Amino acid sequence: MTQKMHPLSELSLKLESWLQSWLGVRPHRLPGAARSGAREPAASAGPTYVDPNPHFEILALGSRSGIIDGNLSAYMIRPLNRNEAVLCDAGTVGNGLKLAQASGTLDDIPLPPDPDSSLDLAGRVLTETIRAYCISHAHLDHVAGLVLTSPDDTPKPIYLLPQTRKLIAENLFNNEIWGNMGNMGARPALGKYTYRDMTPGEVQEIPHTSFRLQAWPLSHGNLTSTAFLLDSDGQKLLYLGDTQHDQAGGEHQLLTLWHHVAPAIRARRLHGLMIETTYPNSQPVTQLRAHLTPRLLLASLHQLADICGGERPLEGLNVICTHVKETFARDAHPVETIEKELNEGNDLGVHFLMARQGERYLV
Ligand SMILES: [Zn+2]
Ligand SMILES: [Zn+2]
Repeated sequence: MTQKMHPLSELSLKLESWLQSWLGVRPHRLPGAARSGAREPAASAGPTYVDPNPHFEILALGSRSGIIDGNLSAYMIRPLNRNEAVLCDAGTVGNGLKLAQASGTLDDIPLPPDPDSSLDLAGRVLTETIRAYCISHAHLDHVAGLVLTSPDDTPKPIYLLPQTRKLIAENLFNNEIWGNMGNMGARPALGKYTYRDMTPGEVQEIPHTSFRLQAWPLSHGNLTSTAFLLDSDGQKLLYLGDTQHDQAGGEHQLLTLWHHVAPAIRARRLHGLMIETTYPNSQPVTQLRAHLTPRLLLASLHQLADICGGERPLEGLNVICTHVKETFARDAHPVETIEKELNEGNDLGVHFLMARQGERYLV
C-alpha cells in the first residue's frame, strides 16, 4: 500500500537524512521498539523490548568487545520487581551504571528509600542491588570493570569455574596489578570478594537473592569460558560467555550445553538466551579467534532445535546477541550487519535482539 506523505513529513525526513549525511548524526533510536505488547510513546528510559510474559530485566551495562573500553560485556540480570541482581561478566561496570543512572534506566529498581545514603543511585545499585558476579572467563574485556570498581564495592561472591578463578587470583587480584580483593592467593588477601567455584551442572544458591545458578564450560581458544543458567522462581535465563563453535574432533561444549537446557526450552521456561556474535560472516575462518559469526550461531541453534525436537521448538525464543567487536574500519556498522545476517538466515523463528549499552530487555 502506498500512501501520500504529508509535505511536512517529507521535509522533515529530508532534513533528517541531510543532517545524517552532513553531521554524521544518526536520529535517536526511540526505545520502546518492542516487538509485542503496547507501543506507547516511550519515555527516554523505556525498555527496548518487552516480552509478553517477562520475568527478568536484562540491563546492558556494556555490550561490545574490542576497542570500546567504556562499553564491554557486563549484563545486570534482575528478576522484575525485586531489588536484587547478578552481574554476568563485568567488563564495564562503573561507566555502565553512570550512563544508566543518567538515562533513568535504574529508576524502576525498588530500592528502599535511604535519604541518609551518601551514594548516588549508581553507587547504591552497585552496593545494594548487585549481589554477586558471574564471571565467564578472565579476558580483560570481561573483568576490567570488576577490578576498577572493586574499591567502591561491597563484599560479594564471585561465581566462576576454578580455571577462571586461578587466572584472576594469580594475574589480577594479586597485590601487584591490583590489590588482592579476593579471599585467596597473594597475602594479604582483603577478602572483599569470595570466590565460589562452580562444578559443571551443580546447583548453587546465590545468598540474598532468589537465584539458583548452574554453570557449564565453553571452549574459547586456550581458555575455558563459561555458560551460566540462572533460575529465579523456576524461570530461567541462559548467559554464555565468549565461545567458539563446536569443531570436528573438539569437545562439543555447545552441544553438551544444549542437551542440558533443552528441557527448559521444551517446558517454555527459558526466557532468553544470551550468546555472542563477535564477527560478521565476512570474517575469515582463520581469524575467528575462538568466536562466533551469525552463520556459526545459526548452525549451533539448529543443533539445539534438533535436540529439543517437535515443531519449530525455538519459535519466539529471545536470543540476545552480545559481544560484537568494534573496529576502526571506516564505514563499518558491525551491529547492524550482524543483525541483518542473523535475520536473513533465521529459519527457526528465533527472536534476535542485539544487545546495546544502556538498553533494557524485559524477557
Ligand atoms: Zn574472551
Ligand atoms: Zn570477550
